[in-house]
Amino acid sequence: MITRHLLPAALLLSMVSIMSAQSPTGNTNIVAVRLIGPDGQPGPVVESPRVVKTDVEWEKQLGPSVYRVLRAKGTEAPFCGNLLDNHKDGVYFCAGCELPLFASSSKFNSGTGWPSFYRPFATENITEIRDVSLGMVRTEILCARCGGHLGHVFDDGPPPTGLRYCLNSAALVFKEEAEVKKLGK
Ligand SMILES: [Zn+2]
Repeated sequence: MITRHLLPAALLLSMVSIMSAQSPTGNTNIVAVRLIGPDGQPGPVVESPRVVKTDVEWEKQLGPSVYRVLRAKGTEAPFCGNLLDNHKDGVYFCAGCELPLFASSSKFNSGTGWPSFYRPFATENITEIRDVSLGMVRTEILCARCGGHLGHVFDDGPPPTGLRYCLNSAALVFKEEAEVKKLGK
């Protein structure tokens, strides 16, 4: 009986300690990220409220196709996403919470059929977790602020990082450079 009562508390404690690693203050509702700076570049690390919504709220906000990718970990068919051949200068934001995730300057043609980047806008803005689904060991990438599924990161990318962040277009919203600069604070 004692074990039955202690176990949930122990689990809760371990979960809290993992989640609080995200924020210097230990507040699990806050995440440390970088927003758009004055010149459209990554600003300083700031604390931002974590975006938490129910599945029903997400589906209503995103619509079925974006919801399937961002909240249900779906993957678009290759060569089908609307941002694959986008070569404009600007920033790609999270479709769920508008956190800046990737800059056009790190986009490259990987030939895979999915938008690919060699580095994130800011490492703070991307959460990586081990994904063992579909019989493969991969590293899933999530938005650090809303937990939305973005895609995966692989170690076969170009210099200077050698990384390939493989994205679903549906997880991203693109804004051109002039618009991005207006967002800078
Ligand atoms: Zn997000």
